[in-house]
Amino acid sequence: MSATIIESLLDKTKDFSLEETLAFIANEYPGKVIFSTSFGQEDQVITDFIAKSNQDISIFTLDTGRLFQETYDVFHKTLKKYKKQIEVYFPEAASVENLLKQKGPNSFYDSVENRKECCFIRKVVPLRKALAGNSVWITGLRAEQSENRNDLQLFEYDGGFEIIKFNPLLKWTLEEVETYLSENNVPQNALHKQGFVSIGCAPCTRAIFPGEDIRAGRWWWESSHKECGLHSAKKE
Ligand code: SF4
Repeated sequence: MSATIIESLLDKTKDFSLEETLAFIANEYPGKVIFSTSFGQEDQVITDFIAKSNQDISIFTLDTGRLFQETYDVFHKTLKKYKKQIEVYFPEAASVENLLKQKGPNSFYDSVENRKECCFIRKVVPLRKALAGNSVWITGLRAEQSENRNDLQLFEYDGGFEIIKFNPLLKWTLEEVETYLSENNVPQNALHKQGFVSIGCAPCTRAIFPGEDIRAGRWWWESSHKECGLHSAKKE
């Protein structure tokens, strides 16, 4: 069933521009199209497109409680520029309180299991809440961000979250993203100028060195698993 829907979406939108595809999905799934932003470069491109499109597409962000001040700064600038509401989802207070009581504030450095537990509490559970009741989840995924993303398509079915994913920037290069941001005067996280490319929580993100993989600055102390569970749910 989901495979048929995905094939149909891919076929119907194959000659559409990004603006046309946004309009198409907003019309096909009224009130059930949602975009998750963490205010990174790709997300800011999509916010700009959505705000200019005037389509019925809502935007939300996950506030893990461990974000950089620079991320809150670009969040604030984005609200001011576009005057579009961005809903915020927090982790369950009791889960965070229990985690810190049991393991302290920085348990994610101790083991992969602890890191995944923190990501689950602070990201995956709130994400599940944000996506509930929606039909299409727009993401800022790009294929060149990670080897795991090479086989993604513009539309995917995410069996983990039981939702259709739309990845409009899948084939964009970083250069195209940066050009769009600069030509359209889109607010950007100040950390990008300091060598940060993919920006998540402050204790789990560092700048990358020239030549390093784009995701090398995320959970750099781990040898693999450069995902937090948001985009690694199984496909159907
Ligand atoms: Fe926790 Fe780090 Fe995951 Fe943020 S990125 S939720 S601080 S483990």
